[in-house]
Amino acid sequence: MTSEHSTPVIHVLDQSTVNKIAAGEVVERPASVVKELVENAIDAGARSIRIDLSASDGKITSIRIIDDGSGMSPQDALLAFVPHATSKIAGIKDLDTIRTLGFRGEALASIAAVSRVTLITKPQGSGAVTGTKIVIAGGTVKEHAGTGAPEGTSILVEDLFFNIPARKKFLKTINTELARIHTLMEGICFSHPEISFRLFYNSHEQMVTDRSTRPLDTIARLFGADTVKHIFPVDAAYPFMTITGYISKPSLSRKDTARMLVIINGRFISSLLINGAVRAGYGTLLAKDRSPVAFLSLQIDCGLVDVNVHPTKKLVRLSREKEIAEAIRKAVSAALLSHDLIPAAEAPVQKMVSLPTATDNQPAYTYPLAETVSSGVSESTHAGTIDSDQRLRQTELMTGIPVVPSKLPAIEVIGEFGGIYILGRTDTDELVIIDQHAAHERILYEQVLLRLKGEHHSQELIWPVILHSTPKETSVLQDLLPALTLEGFILEDFGRDTFIVRAIPVVLGRMENAGIIDEIISDLVNDASTGSVNNRERITRIIACRGAIKAGTVCTREQCQRIVNQLRLTRNPFTCPHGRPTIIRFSRTDLDTMFKRT
Ligand code: ADP
Ligand code: MG
Repeated sequence: MTSEHSTPVIHVLDQSTVNKIAAGEVVERPASVVKELVENAIDAGARSIRIDLSASDGKITSIRIIDDGSGMSPQDALLAFVPHATSKIAGIKDLDTIRTLGFRGEALASIAAVSRVTLITKPQGSGAVTGTKIVIAGGTVKEHAGTGAPEGTSILVEDLFFNIPARKKFLKTINTELARIHTLMEGICFSHPEISFRLFYNSHEQMVTDRSTRPLDTIARLFGADTVKHIFPVDAAYPFMTITGYISKPSLSRKDTARMLVIINGRFISSLLINGAVRAGYGTLLAKDRSPVAFLSLQIDCGLVDVNVHPTKKLVRLSREKEIAEAIRKAVSAALLSHDLIPAAEAPVQKMVSLPTATDNQPAYTYPLAETVSSGVSESTHAGTIDSDQRLRQTELMTGIPVVPSKLPAIEVIGEFGGIYILGRTDTDELVIIDQHAAHERILYEQVLLRLKGEHHSQELIWPVILHSTPKETSVLQDLLPALTLEGFILEDFGRDTFIVRAIPVVLGRMENAGIIDEIISDLVNDASTGSVNNRERITRIIACRGAIKAGTVCTREQCQRIVNQLRLTRNPFTCPHGRPTIIRFSRTDLDTMFKRT
């Protein structure tokens, strides 16, 4: 291909090309510019930071950050744009104890390499009359002069990526870019409640926080008072880490993790590991496709956190990450267990229907009265009562449960509704509505788990149950046999798509009814939720669901009371194993508000 004397193929790139390539790592998009400049302002000790974005023709045309921080001398202002020039570290050792957000000395150089930057700065408290103005475009200094300026720094970035058309092309729609900036700013505001931030877009105010010593104020400012109503504090200390912040009650959850904000040592980061650990702390309190809302600040031994693994430092590497994750899971779980998680009823204020008012000869709207007003609990059919009794008795006869104080107040049943809901009055004088099936499911679920720890969790059937399966079911069942045996089922493969059930888990012992066993096995075979939870968890949930009193089964008042009493004994009485609530309460004040008595 090449002869011996041809010119060399390899050559060293010129500095401007090197800078542009390096810039690609730090400055991916407009949000990265905002991030780097705001972080510089924070590092400069600013008390208030203003961000101005302008856009036209579907593109962000300028980004300006103004701070009242330390400012820079004329010499420093020029040095700041030199690659790897930083005032924050002197050597690699300093990284172990780094307290500033920046330290790589790359941001300003990178931004200036791919845009046109105008910097105006004046050092704080220097008494200098004039400040410094520097204009750099594509890495070349165009202007360096004195100028009148307030103390602090203002940086204007225009024509972003004017000299890298390829990068420009990859930018998403303006809304996507703005959304990224918004999310970023939420995290930054949350991590620095002591700074007041103001974000403007085409001169319209988008986000404002006030200086505060309480992170909760900032959370309220960013996400609204409603969010604050549904979160409560987490506090935990371990030898290598402390956790503070707020997590949501299960009543506030989301389909995505956008409201899981995590700060490690003052740095807003994103971490799947930590998000996963927080989610794990909720266990069955949330449905499996939901994520909680969480605002957490972790202080981790500096030695365990490596912030220098990602050019934009959005990711960090944690040593002992398993321990850290486990500690977070535990802290979240403990906080949830010690908290009163009964969702309060929301007054449907907006949905209030206004009734027509009475005129002289026309009576006002008359409310249709039900012909018979049911008083309290209706009696169920005899057969139904017996079935419910069997199901209930089984969950009542628990022995060896450590008695812990109940997380629910004492509840007196006052009625039931539709065979679905139990109505009760608490000793704290609140009205509660309990989902009968969900409550009993929770009771069974916890008992199955407890039983599994004991030795004799299997009980032989007097009349073995014969199951006929389809060929597909047969193969699934054959695979599940070991897991089922572990859970207390004894099934024999009889060949020709027939199985004989000889024993079932003790928890189902009083329901020796072929129907339930059939339902459980067919649920297991057809359950598509494989993967997300293990076999044991799946089997436990299915037993709980199928063993529990069905919705629509009308229970006697006495039976309702037994369900409630059993629910009070559970570790987590607030949700069923799938994360749906078991109980909702209405305080007198809630009701008064709904009836506009206040
Ligand atoms: P780094 O933040 O990693 O040190 P940068 O390129 O972001 O690198 O900034 C270089 C230097 O410029 C900083 O170390 C700091 O001394 C100075 N600087 C940048 N922005 C500001 C600002 N807003 N106020 C005061 N000094 C600043
Ligand atoms: Mg920086």
